[in-house]
Amino acid sequence: MISVFFKTYGCQANVADSAGIASFLEGLGCVQVESEGLADLIIINTCAIREKAEQKLYSYLGELLEFKEKLPYLKIGIIGCVASYRKDEMLKRFEYISFVSGARDERTTFLTYLADVIVQLQTEKQLFAHNFDRTGDVTLTQLAILGRDVKLAMSKRSLVLPARLLKEGAQAAMGGTLAPEGEIKRAFINITTGCNNYCTFCIVPFTRGREASYPLEDIVMRVSHEVVAGAKEITLIGQNVNSYTCPQTAVRFAALLEAVALIPGSFWVRYVSPHPKDMTRDVLEVMAKYPDKLCAWCHFPLQSGSSRVLELMNRTYTKEEYLRQVDLIRAVVPGVALSTDIIVGFPGETHEEFLETRDVAQQVGFDMAYSFVYSRRKYTKAFSMGDTCSPEEKAARLADLQEVLRAGSLATAQRYIGKNLRVLVEKRTTNGKLLARSSGNHRVVFDGDGSLVGTFIEVCITEAGQSELRGEIIVAPTAISKEHGRAA
Ligand code: SF4
Repeated sequence: MISVFFKTYGCQANVADSAGIASFLEGLGCVQVESEGLADLIIINTCAIREKAEQKLYSYLGELLEFKEKLPYLKIGIIGCVASYRKDEMLKRFEYISFVSGARDERTTFLTYLADVIVQLQTEKQLFAHNFDRTGDVTLTQLAILGRDVKLAMSKRSLVLPARLLKEGAQAAMGGTLAPEGEIKRAFINITTGCNNYCTFCIVPFTRGREASYPLEDIVMRVSHEVVAGAKEITLIGQNVNSYTCPQTAVRFAALLEAVALIPGSFWVRYVSPHPKDMTRDVLEVMAKYPDKLCAWCHFPLQSGSSRVLELMNRTYTKEEYLRQVDLIRAVVPGVALSTDIIVGFPGETHEEFLETRDVAQQVGFDMAYSFVYSRRKYTKAFSMGDTCSPEEKAARLADLQEVLRAGSLATAQRYIGKNLRVLVEKRTTNGKLLARSSGNHRVVFDGDGSLVGTFIEVCITEAGQSELRGEIIVAPTAISKEHGRAA
């Protein structure tokens, strides 16, 4: 049996890709393991959105050399966004990498290659188990035949996946389920791939290519399959979910969301990420119509609170339009929680413009926020924009903004004290408490029995910190109520 370890960096689209590949490999009889030291195959799904993520990848690759030296047949594969545009550099710099396949490479081709890697690994593992002392040579010879650049290697070969694997491969491209030990099953389903927006700071359109949507029917089938297999939380993923358009029927995101909400079963649905320029009332009305399935949570990326900077970023909305959209979301979806992404220090951002961002953050009062200093990415338009802000100034802006965001999160969290929330119990923590998640995506901690993991229960919130709510169970597991997860 071949054991596989996944290291996944970056966004939920990467998580969905890793989960899909994991499901495909399980179909080939592989098992997922929790650490590198137990693996025959390590797959690293890479992120190029910030320079820091890339640096982390390189130091991680350095650490893996030790594992490769101990286990000569160990294969290390790199996939995802960095693999899309640094393939040659990686192959040259890290000789012990077995294969590289970019996020834009055709998925069935990659899975066909991967199926072959598994067959090779089975042979090499057997040879190794029988003390065949030239295993290292065998590995190198076979790698040379297969080729380390997946796209190039497959263009020279005519491997064909058997029909069953072809079908599983097509499903795997849409994502799959992750279930770390002792936790609930979560399914991550891609509803679109790629992006057409070309925000000037973002490398995704270059690494993942043009936007394409999966058929609604296939998505509903995939979600139904995951629910039957025990998934309790489904996340629908697209770089801009609001631009979803079924290639067969041309129906849009609201119709997809409704179709998923109508799938029978006890599960919650989240989606990431909407784009403020494209969010429409019909999507919000569907969320309000199915509170038992569709979580009252919206991750709504602001990026900047200055209309001039937003224009430089090519976000195609103004500060005022963003705030109007927030009002609409709050008006249509009762008790909705909001999270966001914010960049500080974008090229040309003045101190006054930063203060506008700070002000919008204060006005909105996000439940949660991810904030970053701008990271310069090759190929993007912003790469060549003049940068007038020093690293020290950027760091000071980030620290200042994060203080505002923390205060906002604390204030919104405190509004839940004394309220009853329906939560999904995710796992037992190391200190014996239960960790659950509310519909608004808040972490909720309380005392309870481990058998409650995977159930929906009602909890009264007694304390609220900036990153966590604490409470007490008030109702034993039941079917999901209409009011689930919403603060009154
Ligand atoms: S919408 Fe903008 S930030 Fe999001 S993936 Fe597309 S280009 Fe990147």
